Amino acid sequence: MSLKSQMRYMNPYDIHKALVNEYILRRPGDTKQLHRDSSRDRTDLDVIRENHKFLWDDETPDTWEAQFAKKYYDKLFKEYCIGDLSRYKENKIALRWRTEQEVIIGKGQFICGNKVCSCQEDLRTWEVNFAYEEQGKRKNALVKIRLCSDCSEKLNYHSKKREIKRLKRKSLIGQTRKKHRDEDTLKSLSDDEAGPSKESTTDESNPSKEDSLSQNDRSIEESPWENIKPAETKSRDEEMEDYLQELIL
Ligand SMILES: [Zn+2]
Repeated sequence: MSLKSQMRYMNPYDIHKALVNEYILRRPGDTKQLHRDSSRDRTDLDVIRENHKFLWDDETPDTWEAQFAKKYYDKLFKEYCIGDLSRYKENKIALRWRTEQEVIIGKGQFICGNKVCSCQEDLRTWEVNFAYEEQGKRKNALVKIRLCSDCSEKLNYHSKKREIKRLKRKSLIGQTRKKHRDEDTLKSLSDDEAGPSKESTTDESNPSKEDSLSQNDRSIEESPWENIKPAETKSRDEEMEDYLQELIL
């Protein structure tokens, strides 16, 4: 049974472990290296550091799972932040991107993103504005920070941040067969959830869809065979995006 078909029965942390262990680290079959128990994080880190080798340094991933793992892993680096909340009463909160080790063990994703907190329960996702420097340029980004209840209170001490909530518990994963019929329903549901601020992205996605449809129509007229490959690639990308959205809150 492939990981892809198992994913529908797994929770996000188990999927994370499987993707990291099987496809990102060269540790085939050994998924016991990552534990939720934070008292063992140090040991895990040491083990990971010793065995750490990227699959895609010298080769392009070929399986669906490996390609998905790479997308997932790359996305995680610019998805969640780690915060220093020690001066929250002065309205001073320092943010930084996660290190590779933090991405691997899920610090800031499955473990509270306050750098000194190791709580793993009731994590909530908040949207924060993060000003940082990259290659000498000042940048601003809306990023996510996942915090436990106590740390969420600290973050919101001076001003309430926007909370990002998962709309549906029912998983998209494993619904590919029903996907096309449900797609419109799911899209309109998530639009409702996103509220007015997300409307612009919705507006943008619609015309581009029409564009690609008409492009496909054109290429069908020109050559039915040339159309096959790009269409497959696109639907695989779209499918992976759906899985990513489901996995990353
Ligand atoms: Zn916390």
